Amino acid sequence: MKPNCVRKLREYCSNCDHSGEFDVVIRPTTIKFRGESYHVTEEFVVCSHCKSEFDSFKIKTDPLVQVFRKYREKHGLLHSEEIRAIRELYGITQKELAAILGFGPITISRYENGSLQDKAHDTLLRLIQDPRNLLQLLKSGRAGEKVMSKKKQTEVIAKAQQLLSEKRQKAMAQKWCAPSKALKREQPAPGAALAVRSKKWAEQPMTPGVAMNAVPLAA
Ligand SMILES: [Zn+2]
Repeated sequence: MKPNCVRKLREYCSNCDHSGEFDVVIRPTTIKFRGESYHVTEEFVVCSHCKSEFDSFKIKTDPLVQVFRKYREKHGLLHSEEIRAIRELYGITQKELAAILGFGPITISRYENGSLQDKAHDTLLRLIQDPRNLLQLLKSGRAGEKVMSKKKQTEVIAKAQQLLSEKRQKAMAQKWCAPSKALKREQPAPGAALAVRSKKWAEQPMTPGVAMNAVPLAA
């Protein structure tokens, strides 16, 4: 693949002391990272006067960020935006999440900006996705108390409890919807459907209160 000009950029060339609208060029490159080769692209500026190539801080596409993205995909690590989503789910700041998990204060900020987390940190971040684990950490009183006010802790606990109850309701609904999905796949003969459905329905374990939750009353 031949380098392509993707846009123009006003820059200064320190090689020939010219400034102007120079080409920004993109080309494929291979970067070795932790013993593996990654094929990514790099962007750089070409001076229209002396043809020298140089980097610019105005170029935002960092090849290393692409390498980290590919590495995350290959090794099953959370992406930066997934880490941000976990934090936003509970309405907590980067510093608060770092404190809850016992990380350094700027660790989450670095991960959300593209730095690569190790496997141990990735595991902890995945565990905290489950509101039960966050609740356990917060209720133990050891996590986050240095950076979170009592009021904030109460708010986060309430949020986690709400998410947990939503999760349980969803699981319950899925359990109750499952027999009708199975029926659709089986495609029973006309007339047979009702008989099969009532049989499946009768087989469902009855839990007190479940029916009331599953079928909301009309307002
Ligand atoms: Zn130049």
